[in-house]
Amino acid sequence: MAESPRPDLLSLTPEALRRVLADHFQVRGQPAYRAGQVEKWIFERLAPSISAMTDLPRAEREALAASFDLAEPQPATVATSVDGTVKHVWRLADGELVESVLIPTQERLTLCISSQAGCAMGCTFCATGWGGFRRQLTAGEIVAQYRASRRWAEANGLGPVTNIVYMGMGEPLANRAAVHDSLTLLNRGYGVGARRITVSTVGHVPGILELADRHEQFRLALSLHAPTSALRQQLIPLEKRYSLDEVMQALERFDEAGGKRITFEYTMIAGVNDALELVEPLAELARRVGAWVNLIPFNPIPYKDWRASPPARIKAFAAGLARRGVTAAIRASRGRDIDAACGQLRAHTLAEAGAKGS
Ligand code: SF4
Repeated sequence: MAESPRPDLLSLTPEALRRVLADHFQVRGQPAYRAGQVEKWIFERLAPSISAMTDLPRAEREALAASFDLAEPQPATVATSVDGTVKHVWRLADGELVESVLIPTQERLTLCISSQAGCAMGCTFCATGWGGFRRQLTAGEIVAQYRASRRWAEANGLGPVTNIVYMGMGEPLANRAAVHDSLTLLNRGYGVGARRITVSTVGHVPGILELADRHEQFRLALSLHAPTSALRQQLIPLEKRYSLDEVMQALERFDEAGGKRITFEYTMIAGVNDALELVEPLAELARRVGAWVNLIPFNPIPYKDWRASPPARIKAFAAGLARRGVTAAIRASRGRDIDAACGQLRAHTLAEAGAKGS
């Protein structure tokens, strides 16, 4: 984690921010409304720096910057796909690189954000996992991807970000303290509705249970990819720690918490997890927790010669699920040409790092 002697304003939850700013300005003999000015610059005007807060007197900006950081990541690269998907690689204060992806459709603009630099989970179908774990992101580094992407989207005619998914680099529920604070920040600070925010997990049981206990209706996506324990073991090493059965029990708790939507993500890999016999166990799991299923054609990654299931097989899967009363959608793959599609993040970054010999 980037060590800074000063607290990062972007990492503080709205309540904590109000408190520290009130104290700060009181000590300086400033009027109480100064705290509100700074909050507005952070949450509404998305100021990229303390020096941009121009309705504060210069001396107050300098004093604030002497006591606090506002740690915005710098864009290292930005790439736009032929399908309109935009991938940002952000350079954090200590040089770590993380990625976020803007995915426009006709009615929404979804932002996919990262919660860790790298990932320790090692899922076999995912380029991020192969790069290994680098470090946890702070809450500020997570929401900073939203702030900077929102500014970029508005400046480039994509309009407002309507939905946020924690499906970028990392397992969000393995970075729970920062992810919980970032959820609070996005929802109560930046005003993104809880139902428009989806946390994705590969099956981290304690994290699912904690999320179930939150009163807000954040959505949960389980990266399932295998509807039996035996197959899941081959694709997702976490099966050894949290079995499919335990994951399902945690999802039942999440479902019982009421009004919270669960989706299953199922990447379809030819000859690996697309046998038609798997439709029945998949449907059974989905029915247990009222989950919708997203079927995603596998995206190519380096060093693995797996291919996506043929379109006819994916359609047969979807039809089989529908016949069993499960809502299933075939998700178009977005941003493949810029390595922005599911499972591809970090592939490009790693290649760059390799080219530099680091
Ligand atoms: S799929 Fe998710 S949890 Fe698995 S290695 Fe990739 S980033 Fe990590």
